[in-house]
Amino acid sequence: MRRAYKFLLRPTSRQTVALVACLEEHRQLYNAALEHRRTAYRMAGAKIRYGDQSAELKHIRGDDPGGQGRWSFSSQQATLRRLDKAFAAFFRRRKAGQTPGYPRFKGRGWFDTVEWPKDGDGCRWDSQPGHPTATFVRLQGIGHVRVHRHRPVRGRVKTIAVKREGRRWYVILSCEDVPAESLPATGAVAGIDLGVASLVTTSDGDHLANPRHLAASADRLAAAQRDLARKKRGSRRRRRAAARVAALHAKIRRQRLDGAHKAALRLVRDYDVIAHEALRITNMTRSAKGTAEQPGRGVAAKAGLNRSILDAGWGVFLRILAHKAESAGRELIAVNPAGTSRTCPRCGHCAAGNRVTQAEFRCQGCGHQAHADVNAAINFLRAGLALRDAAQAA
Ligand SMILES: [Zn+2]
Repeated sequence: MRRAYKFLLRPTSRQTVALVACLEEHRQLYNAALEHRRTAYRMAGAKIRYGDQSAELKHIRGDDPGGQGRWSFSSQQATLRRLDKAFAAFFRRRKAGQTPGYPRFKGRGWFDTVEWPKDGDGCRWDSQPGHPTATFVRLQGIGHVRVHRHRPVRGRVKTIAVKREGRRWYVILSCEDVPAESLPATGAVAGIDLGVASLVTTSDGDHLANPRHLAASADRLAAAQRDLARKKRGSRRRRRAAARVAALHAKIRRQRLDGAHKAALRLVRDYDVIAHEALRITNMTRSAKGTAEQPGRGVAAKAGLNRSILDAGWGVFLRILAHKAESAGRELIAVNPAGTSRTCPRCGHCAAGNRVTQAEFRCQGCGHQAHADVNAAINFLRAGLALRDAAQAA
């Protein structure tokens, strides 16, 4: 099993200066490599590849020992590979007949991660400079940086990355061969409905991860963005306002992830089998743009809903749930959601009129009433168990 860990770094002020320089010079390398590809293409129609650019690293480092030469060769290669991936995606989309944007230069604040692709190569996880109770990560050119390791790391550390979020620095470990820690069977099964008011509603009627604290942060973010818009370009106040907006964005991301982790943890603790709807989020967001035949019909309302859907982070939640379920030895079943919000779990009557409002379900056939999300969760559970029975019978 693979697993990622993210820990807060506690760099000294000198290390913070080095981290900023490290990020900045990797950004410059990225932009220089992008410029190289652009000019070669424009002047001679030549396509520069990753291998060509990687081969030049030695000279770049040799010419700039106090700058580029300070950092890990491998982390620089990883940066060039990142650019290569951006180009590969660009060409793939263009080949598929889409009109993708050409890979862009990364401005300050748009390049926030440096990756070391192999533990032990220009970096070392859990390196001990003679301080046995603390955890450190050693990064070439930066030193032994103290890590707030709030949980144990299992498995083998493969890659190490450093990420800046606002004023905080994090280390992200990607581990392989992480042992599964299966939980004892509970004998309980559940369906879950994913929503906006609550991230998760279970077939037992529980609402998990109500994003109320998220809504409060979102209000503050909106205010901070209005504040930013009023500041004069290039002013010190504007920079400060921009930093505040970035910090609030980061806070919302953390809160959302935290809510998703807690909800997923509770589900895998309580249930052996969890049925959920199979998501197609990309399709839902794309449909908001409207079609040529029906330009803009209901687009505004739909765009608002789509934004909330993306904000609620269903895809992220399901990924977290899948990881935890795998680790705990629980079973997840994805169910096609067609009709689930309109079907009566008591009599099977399926009609659009059954769904009275966003929150209320009342069957037109038998009069059965329920919370609409709980109702959908029950239908997911039934459909999931039916799929499972069918699979076991086959
Ligand atoms: Zn009914």
